[in-house]
Amino acid sequence: MTDWHQRTTADCLAHLQVDSAHGLTSAQVVDRRQREGPNEIVDTGGRGPLRIIGDQLRGAMIVLLVVAAIVSMYLDEPAEAGVIAAIVVLNSLLGFVQDYRAEKALAALMKLAVPTVRVRRDGSVREISARELVPGDLVLLEVGNQVPADGRLCEAVNLKIQEAALTGESEPVSKLVSPRLGSDLPLGDRTNMVYMATVVTYGHGVAVVTETGMKTELGHIARSLQSVESEETPLQRRLAQLGRTLALVAIGIVAIVFVAGVVRGEDKRLMLLTSLSLAVAIVPEGLPAVATVALAIGAKRMFHRRALIRSLPAVETLGSVTVICSDKTGTLTENRMTVTVLDVAGHHLKLDEAHDRDKTTAPVNGFASDAIPIAVDVGMVLRQIIAEDSSLALLLAGAALCNDAELERDESPVEDGAKSAAQAASTEFRAVGDPTEAALVLAAARLGLAKNQLLQWLPREAEIPFDSDRKRMTTIHRLELKATEIEPGPLRTAQDAISQLHAPAIAVTKGAVDSILSACDAIWHEQQPQPLDDAWRQRIAETNELHAAQGVRVLGVAIRPLDRRLTEQLHKEPIDQLALADSIERELIFVGMLGMIDPPRPEVAQAVARCRSAGIRPVMITGDHPLTAMHIAEQLNISDDRRVLTGAELEQHSDEELRDRAQTTSVYARVAPKHKLRLVQALQDSGHVVAMTGDGVNDAPALKQAHIGVAMGVIGTDVAKEASQMVLLDDNFATIVSAVEEGRIVYDNIRKFVKYTMTSNAGEIWVMVLGPLMGMPLPLLPLQILWINLVTDGLPGLALALEGAERDTMRRPPYPPNEPVFARGMVRDIAWVGLLMGLVSLAMGYWYWAYHEALDAHWRTIVFTVLTLAQMGNALSIRSSRDSLFQIGVFSNPSLIAAVALTFVLQMLVIYWAPLQTLFKTVPLTLGELLACLMLSTIVFWAAELHKWWLRR
Ligand code: ATP
Repeated sequence: MTDWHQRTTADCLAHLQVDSAHGLTSAQVVDRRQREGPNEIVDTGGRGPLRIIGDQLRGAMIVLLVVAAIVSMYLDEPAEAGVIAAIVVLNSLLGFVQDYRAEKALAALMKLAVPTVRVRRDGSVREISARELVPGDLVLLEVGNQVPADGRLCEAVNLKIQEAALTGESEPVSKLVSPRLGSDLPLGDRTNMVYMATVVTYGHGVAVVTETGMKTELGHIARSLQSVESEETPLQRRLAQLGRTLALVAIGIVAIVFVAGVVRGEDKRLMLLTSLSLAVAIVPEGLPAVATVALAIGAKRMFHRRALIRSLPAVETLGSVTVICSDKTGTLTENRMTVTVLDVAGHHLKLDEAHDRDKTTAPVNGFASDAIPIAVDVGMVLRQIIAEDSSLALLLAGAALCNDAELERDESPVEDGAKSAAQAASTEFRAVGDPTEAALVLAAARLGLAKNQLLQWLPREAEIPFDSDRKRMTTIHRLELKATEIEPGPLRTAQDAISQLHAPAIAVTKGAVDSILSACDAIWHEQQPQPLDDAWRQRIAETNELHAAQGVRVLGVAIRPLDRRLTEQLHKEPIDQLALADSIERELIFVGMLGMIDPPRPEVAQAVARCRSAGIRPVMITGDHPLTAMHIAEQLNISDDRRVLTGAELEQHSDEELRDRAQTTSVYARVAPKHKLRLVQALQDSGHVVAMTGDGVNDAPALKQAHIGVAMGVIGTDVAKEASQMVLLDDNFATIVSAVEEGRIVYDNIRKFVKYTMTSNAGEIWVMVLGPLMGMPLPLLPLQILWINLVTDGLPGLALALEGAERDTMRRPPYPPNEPVFARGMVRDIAWVGLLMGLVSLAMGYWYWAYHEALDAHWRTIVFTVLTLAQMGNALSIRSSRDSLFQIGVFSNPSLIAAVALTFVLQMLVIYWAPLQTLFKTVPLTLGELLACLMLSTIVFWAAELHKWWLRR
């Protein structure tokens, strides 16, 4: 059907056979799921097998090998040509399998990044993966959600949707529920429809899914948004560049070897083949493949540590991070808010542990001078106190009304009297939604002011949603005249107080105390509004700070009676939100404050310590009060200079001033998302590599600007996730630190691979260059060179990509992101170890050649074997850049042990198995000779270990 927008909501629901209150039944879902398949756009991105084979065959090495094979054919060496061809096929196959698996692993990870949605099914709201949606599902849409499928709106409250992805229209479109006429209305004008992949930027709504998967408008365009951009990482680009440079170097060296050989009277044909083989040896063909594999392995390991990578370059950049800017709530803290304090004019009520235990609180200054300490008991007593104080009742009623969290009764209702009042109070309710709001709804319900009951006589008419710039939200409620008589208690007290205002409607505002206070001109005191003078303001501010300094998040609540004129204005659609906020959020009556605690996550203190030892600075950014922020920062050892910079101060600073300040200040409070962007830029300007967390829609620019944008997987909006390179599956700061560690491991492993192959190649070149200089004939035959380069180099090299963390991975400062791969003495190591390898390999062969007048095949077999075995020793030693093999454990990388063992077995086959002997022109060595080769080859291992020992000292 294509005319959903022309029909009424009821008609659409009937057509889809779904009840708007109940949603689909499980049976309907199963049925439709079978019929319609998963709700996904068939992935057209990523590299298919053909592309990967193509990429494999394009490499410089393959070209070289093919040339070598053709030349062999031309020189009438079919065996040679056959083996080269086999090597080409085998190597491409190996490369293909690795590449393909890496690609698949990444694609699988990306699938996990599919957003979740909230749907109404079987009469309750549940969260499911967007893939599971079927036509007829009722989807709840909120700010920051990406619309998961096409749908027809059933409810829309101030709903605005950014549809640029589909229509190109950059301004968000206001959405309504009423039918739109015109069958050929363009998508942009079908304002009662929502479309897959567009983004909710304001308000909320409910839509019934009309189309899923490839049948959606997005599916029609068949543009894949889920596909992974398989962009090359900077490191991969640098490695590819390195490969090209080395190819040029190879050509130079090869020319020299060829000319020198021919001048010395060697067979021209043999020299041609040898030179070509040597060229193949010099080019580090495995590099790009290993880099991809290492990065993919890193991404996978990060996933196991609860960090989902959304772009491969992030794996690499993570290793160089120097500053981690983290939100406080939920990332450094548990985001498990509990209301602990109620503070109104005259009363100060401390609730901690009161739900569980009988307890009398010590008196703490309430903001009224006449604060009286109250003996706090559980349940009944608390409700009694609240019933007797209209300020407390109004405070809790306001906190529950101006609130989007949903209150649910627990599945297992408690029979009155069966449990103690304390147990009843703590088990009866559950709240779902934003933790701050959930805590408020829960506290209010436990203290006798259940949101559902409140809404019965104060139904919500309109709202001005919370945003972190205003730091407050407002809801507007109509007074239901037909309210039934209720018995005395907190609810009744609140009702009486509100009725006393004689208004047709009230506005309830809650938010940061400073923000609320600026919109108030009265205070609720002694059962009625009184003027809010400076003395009151000061007392309120002081009390706010007192609580904040103890790490408590404080929210203020205010109300306002609305006259008929304002109330009527609400019904004139459409309402401009800013104008509405302006006209409603003023002349408020301050009711009181609620304080809640949110303890630091237990694992974060240790993660902060790891950051510090790894040369990374943790920075806290929060919308909370500076004192609350400082309290938590000190608990976690985040504050460097014991100073807090607020968003307002930040605005006063010029870019230069901010850059200087950002060098030392690590705690930022009362910060709005726009400040985050400036902070990232200031840190980047002074050369930092910045990771920045975020969850909201407004965080997207800062997330994009940061080197690593980190979105919250649990509480984050789809927009934030879309804008970031990494998603934290557990919203935990410690996870970022683990991901950084994995990033460092990946980079280290790529460097180990580079070092290993380059050293091996250097060894081969020294053999080929020094041998003739010492008067020997060619020390290695072309096929032998190819063998060493492709088999003995490749297997252990790949296994090095699986190496784990080193002891000092998180105890050293980060490497600068643009530091050459060869930095930190790598060139020196490649040069001397390569030379040693060459000399060791030639030594025994030379002795046999010069003094035993051995057959060419015999001494060549010796050179060939020593070189291969020396490489194995080198691989083992390269596993750690500082520690000895015996410190890190010989068997701690089983893949490498397996690779070394396999290479050894293959080498034995080449020497002792007749068919391969013929092919590689080898002869069997005696046991004594083999042992001698083995002993000799370990020299390289011991020398490398000795060098590390010297470095350690
Ligand atoms: P952090 O930045 O540490 O993650 P946060 O994201 O919760 O904290 P914001 O959401 O920007 O910070 O909140 C800033 C301030 O706005 C809070 O300190 C609180 O005073 C107020 N606030 C937070 N949530 C709400 C809400 N749902 N309704 C009203 N006010 C709120």
